[in-house]
Amino acid sequence: MRKARVFVGLLHYPMYNKHGAAITTSVTNLDVHDIARAARTYDVDQFIIVHPSPKQQEILELITSYWQQGYGRVYNADRNEALQRVTLCATLAAAQDMITERTGMEPKLVATDAGIYPGAVSYTDMKNRLREPGCYLILFGTGWGMQRELVESCDYILPPLGLVSDYNHLSVRSAAAIIMDRLLGEEWFR
Ligand code: SAM
Repeated sequence: MRKARVFVGLLHYPMYNKHGAAITTSVTNLDVHDIARAARTYDVDQFIIVHPSPKQQEILELITSYWQQGYGRVYNADRNEALQRVTLCATLAAAQDMITERTGMEPKLVATDAGIYPGAVSYTDMKNRLREPGCYLILFGTGWGMQRELVESCDYILPPLGLVSDYNHLSVRSAAAIIMDRLLGEEWFR
C-alpha cells in the first residue's frame, strides 16, 4: 500500500516543438479531463496544471469551474469528483511551493519522457519508493516533450514506455494513465 503523497503535474513550458525549439504549448481540454480522471482513479493527491500564460489560465479556469461549480457539477457528479482535484499554477516552482505548504514536505520531481536518459530509475524502483513515506510530483510534458535541462534537473527520470515497436508517439493522456497504473495501480503481474 502506498504511503507517499503523490501529485501529478502537466507542464506547458519549456517544451520542445517539432523543430527542437523551446515553446509554450497551449492547453488541451482533453488533457485536463482525461488526466484528471486517471489521477482520481489512482487516488493522486492533486493534478496540477502548470501554465505561465494568464490567458491560458483563464481558459483552464473556465474548464475547471464549469465542472467544479457550474452546471457540469450537477450534470456529471463523477466528472466533478475528478475535476475537484485539479488545480492551476503559473510555474513549476509555484506548484512545488503549494505542495510543500500542503504536505510539509518538499516534493521530489519525477520526470517522464519518450526519450532515453542515462540514470533513469525503473518503474519497479519508483513503485517501491512510493511504498515509503515521502512526497513526489510526477511531471508530464506536452508538445514534443519537456526540454532536456528540465528533465535532467529532476530528482528521478522514468524510462520511456513502449519501446516494443518502431513507433513511439503516445499522447500525454495515454502515457499518464499507463505510468499511474504502473506506479500506483494494483500489482497485476504478481
Ligand atoms: N516525443 C515526445 C517526447 O519525447 O516525450 C512526445 C511528447 S508527448 C505528446 C507529451 C508527454 O507525454 C511527454 O512529455 C511525456 O511526459 C509523456 N510521454 C509520451 N510518450 C511517452 C513514453 N513513451 N514514455 C513516457 N512518457 C511519455
